[in-house]
Amino acid sequence: MSKAYRRVIHWFRRDLRLTDNTSLLASLSSSAEVIPIYVCSNWTGSNLWTGAKRQNFLCECLTSLSRNLEHLGGQLIIRHGDAVSEILKLVEDKRVDAIFLNEDVDPFGKAAEAELKEKSPVPVHSFQDATLHGPTEVLKGDGTPYRVYTPFAKRWLPIEKRKPSGRPSSIETPSDLESLPLPTLSHWGLEEGDWELPKGGEKAARLRMSEALGSRISHYDDTRDIPSLPGTSRLSQDLRWGTLSIRELYHKAVKKGSEQYLKELGWREFYFQILYHFPEVLSNEFNADWRGLPWEEPDKKFEAWKLGETGFPIIDAGIRELLKTGFMHNRVRMIVAMFLTKDLHIDWRLGEQFFAQHLLDGEIASNNGGWQWSAGTGADAAPYFRIQNPWSQTKRFDAKGEYIKRWIPELKTVDPKRFQAPPEDSQPLTEGYPAPILDHGAERKKTLDIFKKHRSQQK
Ligand SMILES: Cc1cc2nc3c(=O)[nH]c(=O)nc-3n(C[C@H](O)[C@H](O)[C@H](O)COP(=O)(O)OP(=O)(O)OC[C@H]3O[C@@H](n4cnc5c(N)ncnc54)[C@H](O)[C@@H]3O)c2cc1C
Repeated sequence: MSKAYRRVIHWFRRDLRLTDNTSLLASLSSSAEVIPIYVCSNWTGSNLWTGAKRQNFLCECLTSLSRNLEHLGGQLIIRHGDAVSEILKLVEDKRVDAIFLNEDVDPFGKAAEAELKEKSPVPVHSFQDATLHGPTEVLKGDGTPYRVYTPFAKRWLPIEKRKPSGRPSSIETPSDLESLPLPTLSHWGLEEGDWELPKGGEKAARLRMSEALGSRISHYDDTRDIPSLPGTSRLSQDLRWGTLSIRELYHKAVKKGSEQYLKELGWREFYFQILYHFPEVLSNEFNADWRGLPWEEPDKKFEAWKLGETGFPIIDAGIRELLKTGFMHNRVRMIVAMFLTKDLHIDWRLGEQFFAQHLLDGEIASNNGGWQWSAGTGADAAPYFRIQNPWSQTKRFDAKGEYIKRWIPELKTVDPKRFQAPPEDSQPLTEGYPAPILDHGAERKKTLDIFKKHRSQQK
């Protein structure tokens, strides 16, 4: 069968897999030769939206992708620098006929796509791949976007979802191409730490998916809120980097029968469409009533929060899990985020940045959505007066203190009941572990006053 093109590029970005990769499969069926390219950004030192653990995970994903392409006869071409310029250089140097890519879901990726489309002398074909439905597919009856999750999910869930396609059996990359070496952390001036990270790459992601679908998802409704259990799928980093196809995961999960799990995938899509329709959430409160709240200057208490040294065991366990593994359980993310915004009165944007730098699954839309939900300022947020109490949350979700003891070894021998209320004598629970840095009851009252005062000033 004749193909439309002789030689095209597939630009890998957040779709680091071969299976059910919409653009890659389209490029292969349209062209005799495909150049699979990944362009590593050239920032060094610091980046507000990522950090060493995440970049380490990315390096592993690229190594795995490169190996998988070689198995099919292809080659991953690595370039460094500005992605649009590097791709356009390749188009010119290698007489490329078209560019294929999967659409990004955040404003930074979208801006690069728009620039490429504007400057490219050859056609640019873009595909929706990272989500089950595009941001304009699920709208209210009057054609406007949903602002609240529950009606969004009601509409989103029953819409038919595209089935996954297969995996290519071979890839022909032109033989006259040279690639730069696969990146390591030093490319960005970063160093390895004392971490316990999951392995990156399509093979590792598929193993995790089998494990999650094999047992965890059938008990999901009962176990998903208990941070000491492996009760959730732990696939967020694989969805973030596209080492798993959302279509494959969704259709496999449907067979497992947990509607709750499918609804969680719906939260992911809800926040993507919020970011698409309301990109101002990146700098502003979604709920305009709460813009201009008087956040406090970050101080020593913020430093204690970032180190997991607040003297609140559930908060410190969450932060220490994050620092060590690049992951934090969802229930604990909510408690930790509310603590920063409602007990320390610190701007949710600082928490959002800190999470982005440490989470392997750091996803601009979900991270922003989660932080604004917790701060009480977001789409379908917890109302400002619903403030989680870290002590009673511990009693409900970590009654035996298993999660806390796992991440705070100093507390191994302490009676877990003592994690469920502030110490009566305000003394540390054990030597080497700090006393609580604040009184939750007093800070809760202060938050209620701040929000009430702000509201009355708005009227
Ligand atoms: C303050 C805060 C920040 C967050 N930041 C991120 C982030 O940067 N990236 C991210 O992927 N998730 C984020 N979440 C959502 C959620 O905590 C993680 O998706 C979840 O913990 C990942 O673990 P899992 O894969 O085991 O989830 P599971 O419970 O197995 O859920 C399956 C999938 O559904 C999606 N999902 C589940 N819950 C949510 C949710 N509330 N919002 C959006 N998607 C969801 C994820 O893709 C997840 O992998 C954040 C939540 C909060 C409260």
